[in-house]
Amino acid sequence: MRLINVTKKYGEITAIKNININVRNKEYLCIIGPSGCGKTTLIKCIAGIIEPDEGEIYIDNKLMNNVPIQDRGVGYVFQEIALFPHMTVYENVSYGPFVKGLSISSVKNIINELIDMMKLQDRVKDHPSALSGGAQQKTAIARALSSGSRLLLFDEPLGSLDVKVRKVLRYELRRLVKDLGLTAIHVTHDQEEAMSIADRIVVMRSGEIVEVGTPLELYLRPKTLFTANFVGEANFFVGELIDIDERGNVKVDVNGKVFFSSCKLNFETKKIVVAIRPEFIVMGRKTSKAKNSWKGVIEEKIFLGSSFRFKVSTDNDVTLVVKAPLSSEAINWRIGDHVNLVLPTRYLLLYPYPKEGLERAIALETFR
Ligand code: ADP
Ligand code: MG
Repeated sequence: MRLINVTKKYGEITAIKNININVRNKEYLCIIGPSGCGKTTLIKCIAGIIEPDEGEIYIDNKLMNNVPIQDRGVGYVFQEIALFPHMTVYENVSYGPFVKGLSISSVKNIINELIDMMKLQDRVKDHPSALSGGAQQKTAIARALSSGSRLLLFDEPLGSLDVKVRKVLRYELRRLVKDLGLTAIHVTHDQEEAMSIADRIVVMRSGEIVEVGTPLELYLRPKTLFTANFVGEANFFVGELIDIDERGNVKVDVNGKVFFSSCKLNFETKKIVVAIRPEFIVMGRKTSKAKNSWKGVIEEKIFLGSSFRFKVSTDNDVTLVVKAPLSSEAINWRIGDHVNLVLPTRYLLLYPYPKEGLERAIALETFR
């Protein structure tokens, strides 16, 4: 599936602007971004529910602009579960192939296989109103698959479900797509969901693509401050570039203290933003001789289940968020304790200070 310069406006609002995406065959692609950034508009353009104002949409190398939904060969599942209320689970799932006019016996095989896969065997005679949200959504997914489409479009398909059910279903969804050799485009505002199932992730903001990468690339080496903030969590502080030492480490002055980063510098502005993820900061009791060692006092401690999240005010006028696993000595640390923080050079990310200011550069609200 390929989008070339796709733009859609609603009056004054440009919902999506110059979108270019190349989805590979059999890829599981996730699209993430804050509410209102244009994800639904984009998926509806691909499905054929909305016609873009500009740009081209190709599926299987065929131009799809102005091709009606039913002829695009796509299956879709949206956040609002849209089953036929007067039909049973079996009838809902078999709706696709029947409309396509396959023979009864081949239809039966496909349907039974899908019902088995989604573990809906016991519910085939039930009507949607008798099902839980999870079972309804499984039925909707089975129905999308029964259309025989090679390209599946999911718009927040798990959004209305309980967290537990959502976590189980997301892996089933990916497994199904992979087992059947299909291609999926999955829209979600849940960056954790995207990280755990996508081959690649597209990050959107204010109708535009910010960056594209594998989950690990976006997590470890986000190209933009926005992604660093939106995917996972990050500490940001402002500094001034000093120089690069003989080993290639970048030296940065933060409030009068020198820091080293082994991050490659590909810009030349003097004012820069340093970012580091909370779980990469090493917290200990003893003063360390390692590079980038800070002293601090614990201001806040929150139990997150599998980890602790601390707020530490440092002797450098910077407050840092630090995450430590439950298995570490963090369990004994208390508010008011003096600690030593080491910020490993390879995890210190550097960005040019944004023209619009740091706050705006990472803000989730859109400034259209
Ligand atoms: P998302 O799915 O990422 O939350 P949408 O694609 O639904 O974003 O919306 C993108 C932008 O387009 C938003 O500013 C939204 O208010 C606007 N928008 C969406 N649909 C319409 C519509 N039918 N009429 C006017 N504005 C719309
Ligand atoms: Mg949406």
